[in-house]
Amino acid sequence: MKRGFLNNAKTTKTVKKAVLTADIERDSGPGTVNVIDLAAQSKEVGGLKRAPVALDGLDELLQQKRIIHKEMDSSLLDHPDDLWIITTQPATADELDGRSECYVSGRAKRAIVNFPGFPSSLPRPTNGANCWRVENSPGKGMGVFANCDMKQGDLIMAERPLLVIPAMMEPMIPMTMHTTPEQMRQLVLLQQEKTMEMLVGRLTEEDQKAYRELYNCHTEDGSGPLFGVHRTNALEVSDYFEPVVYSSCRPNAAREWDSPTFSLHLRATRNIKKDEEITITYLSDLLIPTAERQYQLRSYGFQCGCEACSNPTSSDANRKKIQKFGEPFFQPMAIPRSGPPPLMDLLINPTLRDIKLMEDEGLESIKAYGDYAGRLMNGYMQLGNKTEEKKWRRASVAHKLVWWGARNTAIKEAAEAEKKQKEMMEKMLEETWAKMSRMGVN
Ligand SMILES: [Zn+2]
Repeated sequence: MKRGFLNNAKTTKTVKKAVLTADIERDSGPGTVNVIDLAAQSKEVGGLKRAPVALDGLDELLQQKRIIHKEMDSSLLDHPDDLWIITTQPATADELDGRSECYVSGRAKRAIVNFPGFPSSLPRPTNGANCWRVENSPGKGMGVFANCDMKQGDLIMAERPLLVIPAMMEPMIPMTMHTTPEQMRQLVLLQQEKTMEMLVGRLTEEDQKAYRELYNCHTEDGSGPLFGVHRTNALEVSDYFEPVVYSSCRPNAAREWDSPTFSLHLRATRNIKKDEEITITYLSDLLIPTAERQYQLRSYGFQCGCEACSNPTSSDANRKKIQKFGEPFFQPMAIPRSGPPPLMDLLINPTLRDIKLMEDEGLESIKAYGDYAGRLMNGYMQLGNKTEEKKWRRASVAHKLVWWGARNTAIKEAAEAEKKQKEMMEKMLEETWAKMSRMGVN
């Protein structure tokens, strides 16, 4: 599988002149809508299961519904909320940063264009634009590899997607009481393919070729060739779809959508060695058991062969323990009357042990890792151990970059909540430290 990111500096230096930048509005128009019995339609294309995609049939259906496509001025923003538009975004971007062909609603277009800072230029990768390469990954196809050592938190790439389409499409053709769910599904797949044809058709020839060469594992389920590639390579991020690098349950990188630059940021979640393969996770929860992870990955058409999945017994047990790390942490209040200071025994050593477990499982990307790094930073600060404090401050800041470095609405809200909670915790900690130092313990 070739990597999905193609809209980078290397591929967009020559922007074809004929690229459309006008918006296209899809309007149902006036006139009667014919109700079509899809049972007959489905028989013609070979039954209900795995029916081949009959795009001609959809053309006919769409014509009967009088779907009109018209070109609009791309600067218009007053489209109705639920009107679907094909638009190139950002319309006025630096050509080096590239543009995305988007199929979005009027509401979504306003949300994109009105986002504070949009369209900002893309940030440059920490280790330069040539810090990674695409190369054969044994047993998997093409993968992304590091060209140099990278540090936790480094920006590996920031790229605009080639295409942005909605996760779900509503069927445009009215269903009759005889319509089966499978027919409905086939119809939506036809619509998706039609939309993809329009979007891909607006890309430069170079990008079109690159898109068509991407791997497609949806060849047997009624997906058309273009939508099949999309289903194979795209992942959902907040309101958008975006392409990705390989999945692992021990990812060394994480992706976040950044609305002001309309791009996807990929950052290192731990230090990466030169020539190491760069991976992210396709899963929303890495702490679920191996069998469950494999089940969730089945739609991508592959079995994960990472170190964790290869040793399910030990890995599942470790991840079960790590699940508990997400639970609220209460600063140890028990202060022994005598003996060694409690900070090492009650805070630092258990946290170091837990952080080692997360590192062994390759889980530096999870939220608990950042929380624990911050806890160590605070603990060592109290002990006056400057070297260790600095080390964990760096890890904590790098983790924050990965988690909150990108700026989309959902992340901003979460960051606010996180900040409030952190302030509360810090206040509580300070009070505890004060109490402890009054009692002569450090
Ligand atoms: Zn795995």
